Amino acid sequence: MTIQVFSSIFFLLCLHTLIVKAHLHESNNNFSTPFDFLNRLSGVAKGDNVKGVRELKNYLSSLGYLNHDSYPNDKNKEHENIFDDSLEIALKKYQEFYDLNITGFLDPITITKMRQPRCGMPDFFIPNKTTPPFHTRSYYTFLRDSPKWYKKNLSYSFDWNVLEGAKQPLEHALKQWASATPFKFHYVKIFRKADIKFSFMSGDHDDGYPFVGSSTGMAHSFPPPDGRIHFDVHRKWAWVHKKNAYDMQTVGLHELGHALGLDHSTIFKAVMYPIIYPGERKGLHKDDIDGIKALYKKIF
Ligand SMILES: [Zn+2]
Ligand SMILES: [Zn+2]
Repeated sequence: MTIQVFSSIFFLLCLHTLIVKAHLHESNNNFSTPFDFLNRLSGVAKGDNVKGVRELKNYLSSLGYLNHDSYPNDKNKEHENIFDDSLEIALKKYQEFYDLNITGFLDPITITKMRQPRCGMPDFFIPNKTTPPFHTRSYYTFLRDSPKWYKKNLSYSFDWNVLEGAKQPLEHALKQWASATPFKFHYVKIFRKADIKFSFMSGDHDDGYPFVGSSTGMAHSFPPPDGRIHFDVHRKWAWVHKKNAYDMQTVGLHELGHALGLDHSTIFKAVMYPIIYPGERKGLHKDDIDGIKALYKKIF
């Protein structure tokens, strides 16, 4: 009886493994179009009440431009579709970050920018309501409260579903950060004991950052001392440079930047720029290196 139970569990585990590995080879072309709401919003500005504004508020909130507290589970959905002052301020901040004309309304260039593939991490956090709507920005940024590692030797490991092919480009990304910082990275077999933990995840995986199509980003990661790095299993990934697939090494390099404490940069050529196109390969830019050096200046 016990043997039967064990063999059933073993069979189910194997089946699960096969299903998840099969997803790793899938293309992401089957998704519905999560940015449909933008089609209705062209030219929409302050004072307008249009269906889809609510989704725009959710999108800008998920990227850190709008404070979610401003929109508690509003029972009055009509109200949520009003383009109000807060949304105009958030949109201006978005346009400022991406070096667009600061129009405060949804002009075609802003809509095009929003549709581009990006990292799922917010561009910057809004610590509290007293934050001024505009502040002088340097190019690189730090995560909220500037979390850091307080040791130079960091271990890394791969979750059970990271395919062999993905490991080399991720190790390449680690080497690039090691060459520009005092950090040394070493592999450990026991995943949960590692400082930096690479995983592929699917859908809502209970960390507050579900992968639900292209609007939620292709990857995200958690600041020190957490170190988890998640890639969306349903995206098309490339281990060597390939058109139409996300370059594992480049996205890994970007997410490692977050795991070391950097936030997004406004410099297009920096690896910490939030938008990453399929087929795009980037290395560390001077701005990325300046950022990490500034963050750890007083530590190492
Ligand atoms: Zn990012
Ligand atoms: Zn996650």
